Amino acid sequence: MKATILNVGTELLVGSTLNTHSYYLSQKLHEIGVGVLYHAVVGDNTTRLGEMIGYYYEASDLIIATGGLGPTEDDLTKEVFAEWFGVPLYFSEEIRADIEERFRGFGRPMTSNNLRQCYVPEGAEILWNENGTATGFILEKDGKIAVLLPGPPRELRPMFENQVMPWLRQRVSQVLTSRYFKIFGLGESSTEDKLSDLFSGQTNPTLATYAKTGEVLLRITASGASEAENLKLLEPVVEEIRRRIGDYIYAERDAELSEVLFDHLRDKGLKLALAESCTGGMMADMLVAHSGVSEVFGVSVVAYDNAIKTSVLGVPAETLETFGAVSEETAKAMSEGIAKISGAALSIAVTGIAGPEGGSPEKPVGLVYMDLYNANSGEHRTFKQIFTGNRERVRMGSAMKAFYEAIQ
Ligand code: ATP
Ligand code: MG
Repeated sequence: MKATILNVGTELLVGSTLNTHSYYLSQKLHEIGVGVLYHAVVGDNTTRLGEMIGYYYEASDLIIATGGLGPTEDDLTKEVFAEWFGVPLYFSEEIRADIEERFRGFGRPMTSNNLRQCYVPEGAEILWNENGTATGFILEKDGKIAVLLPGPPRELRPMFENQVMPWLRQRVSQVLTSRYFKIFGLGESSTEDKLSDLFSGQTNPTLATYAKTGEVLLRITASGASEAENLKLLEPVVEEIRRRIGDYIYAERDAELSEVLFDHLRDKGLKLALAESCTGGMMADMLVAHSGVSEVFGVSVVAYDNAIKTSVLGVPAETLETFGAVSEETAKAMSEGIAKISGAALSIAVTGIAGPEGGSPEKPVGLVYMDLYNANSGEHRTFKQIFTGNRERVRMGSAMKAFYEAIQ
């Protein structure tokens, strides 16, 4: 089944609303094996909406339209689709009763505007809306399907998940199964280089790579009659991917590094503490994004100023003078310092030159030292790296490298 997502709303064209339905619906359709051929956006205009339907009608089995089901004059999606499908609209007493009931709940009388929402394209299945007055519809005629959904995300999403997805699942014979890999330390094109021969000359399974900040998401997808059949196709490819780039894979799911670190620390029963200079709290922020992280994370000290490195973290003034703030020695003293303050079993310190100013021939912009200290064994693992890119990338790169090493 091939689909077009058609988002209706002038607010999308003028940039006052971000079109989140297109990616949301694409993701959900992918899950159930419906391929999306086109995304289209059109304003609240009868003529142009009609033209758009005409444009995508032939090429798709399914058009999912969002928006324009409200009670106001500019809401015309239902009328235009009914015309395209050659069906009249009838007045539904059932919908009127539902809307009246809703207004009684608000303690207000129903407005006459809402009567427009009581019309149903003949033959359409009604999609009930628990969070608003606009019902949605599934229209099916001559092998073509149109799904009409209201614009507000809090109305559209539950309607799509609870009513449209089960309906579509029954009609889709193909099942898509995907496996995900998160890769750190290998760029997108190198990843593809190492794997492309596995996928060349065949279309099932397929490989897709997505570059994210400092990391790559790899997705392989098989399509077949059943999940079991797909797994059979995926298994040898998954094995081969592990064999070729296993060293760079930090998760076999679409998870953030910080999330994987959180799980790792929880599994090991370890508590983490951070001493951050150039990352300036970024590592703490990445961890705190996950609910429940207090179980494994207690403190981060942002010691940006040298005097604070000494007074708070106990980095000896001589260490700073002799080796400088950006040095292996300082990184080690910082991680030991925060370990002492917190009692954490694992501590990470990061100190570097984020740039763009402040570099020297011996210590260029992008130079970062990351130290991981195990307070129980007294062991340090120190990493020196010169990151390229702007300030943000240097800081993000250091935080991610430190997290990546912490889960090894
Ligand atoms: P209503 O009953 O609220 O009028 P409607 O079905 O007529 O619903 P619209 O008027 O097109 O829908 O949109 C209502 C609101 O829903 C918009 O103001 C916007 O906030 C949100 N919305 C609409 N389309 C999208 C979209 N593609 N992505 C994200 N939000 C959207
Ligand atoms: Mg509207």
